[in-house]
This record gives sequence, structure tokens and C-alpha cells, in this order.
Amino acid sequence: MSRLPGLVGASVALLLALPSTAVAQVSERSVVFTSDPSRALVIERDAGLLPLIEAASDVLPLAVAGLAEAETRYRSMARLLASARSRQRSAAAALLQVNRMVADIVRDADRMRSTYDDVFDGLSETSRRQLRRGAHTRSNRSAVVRQITSADWVCPIGARTKFRDTWGAPRSGGRSHEGVDLVGKRHDPLLAPVDGVVSYRWDSVGGRSFDLVAADGDYYYGAHLSAYGREGEVEAGDVIGYMGDSGNAQGVHLHFEYHPGGAQNAVNPYPLVDAHCTDRAGSNVSLYD
Ligand SMILES: [Zn+2]
Repeated sequence: MSRLPGLVGASVALLLALPSTAVAQVSERSVVFTSDPSRALVIERDAGLLPLIEAASDVLPLAVAGLAEAETRYRSMARLLASARSRQRSAAAALLQVNRMVADIVRDADRMRSTYDDVFDGLSETSRRQLRRGAHTRSNRSAVVRQITSADWVCPIGARTKFRDTWGAPRSGGRSHEGVDLVGKRHDPLLAPVDGVVSYRWDSVGGRSFDLVAADGDYYYGAHLSAYGREGEVEAGDVIGYMGDSGNAQGVHLHFEYHPGGAQNAVNPYPLVDAHCTDRAGSNVSLYD
């Protein structure tokens, strides 16, 4: 009895002094918690826990409350542990699934790459060139389609204009035409087709011209300006020059080029202006009418 703490010890001692008929004769081990868990009470005698508690309820409120609370805590902790364990299990299963998927994708990609390399290595130089050219053409075509369908793309002429498809037409010095000629009136405003950075230069062929590098790396070139406009950072629709016939131009027009992905990659810009330059005069109509 020396291990029993103060109040509980005294109360149990009191209980033991009660007539034995007051307690049911059930042999089992019982644990009574006190407010101090290190001093839990193990009772091993011919008495069930329940009648003991019932009998002691007046003098052992602390022990009863402690027992009930401990039991509640244990139950909720067991529930928590069980649900945490099942959550952990399903999280681990999901993670495993994802890892397997990633591994599959990487393995497939590796297999495809090595197959592609094998096939590519086995090709003749001519076939390889054709393949590369095919990929290049597809990428240029999708760039043109992107600009045609863009709602932000602005016709580079801020006035009525006329034009036709002259892509590839022969030009002086054995060159071929790498743009579209947008005919208009002298000093008609020229507009930035997209957001970008504009710089100006002069040479004997293009006369006064602009370079526009778009945020996505695309490059636009315009030639034969009568005067320059806004320089540096511009937004689509800003005035970046005025129509003229400087350089080797025959007649007032803007020579306009589009290079997807950067300079030295001119593609036919006719479909772009055809889609976006809606204030367009027919080829047999004078702009001065
Ligand atoms: Zn031209």
C-alpha cells in the first residue's frame, strides 16, 4: 500500500475497510488513472473496476474523471492512429502509382528517342535534310497560323491599302521577293503589328527601314519609310513610321517581312496581311478615289 498516492490511497484504504459484500466478487486486474499518469493505480484483487468506482464515486471524483478522460483519450487516439495509418497507406499507394507512371513515361520517351536516333542515323543525308526541312516548314506554318488567328495582331498599315501575293517574285541582283508590298499614300501611318522593340536604320536598298523584334523572338522588317516613328519598346498599334518610297522603291509602299523565331527565316507574310488588313482596296481601284 506504500505506492498509493495521497487522496486515492486514502480512499482505497477506506474501500478496503468496507464490508466485502459491497463489492462484486470478480477476479480481474483494473487500472485507475489519477491526474498524474506516472502514478496509475493497478488494483489486483477480487473486485471489478466498475463496482469499485461506483463505491468510491463520492470519495474518488478525481480518479473517476481521470479514468473516463483517459479512456476517451485512448479511444480517440486509437481512432486517430487508425485513420492516420490508413491515410498514410493510401498516400503511399498513390505515390507508388505516380512513381510507376513517371518511370513508364521516362522509359517510353527513352525508347522513342533511341528508336528515332537509330532510324535517323540509318537515313541518307538527303532524307535527313528532307526531314529537317519538313520539321522547319511545319514550325513556320504553325507560326503563320498563330499570327493569322491572333486577335492582337495589327495590320501594319493604318490606312486603306492594296496588295497582292508577290512572294518569291524575282528582284534586282538575282534576289527574290521575301515580303509583301503594301501600297498606300505617302505619310500614311505604319503600325507595329505586335508588341516588341523597334529600331531604325538606313541603306540604299531599303531606304529608311524598321526592325521590330517581338517578345516571342519573331522578327518583322519594314522598308521604304518616309519618316520614322516610335523607337524602342512599342505596343501593337503604335505608329512606328510613315509610308514612303525611300531606297530603291518604285512607287510609295511598305515592303513588309515576317521571320518566325528571328531574322534569316523569312516566310510569306501575305496570309497575315490578307487576314488582318481589312481596309483593302481592290487591285483595279485607285487609293486616291
Ligand atoms: Zn517588297
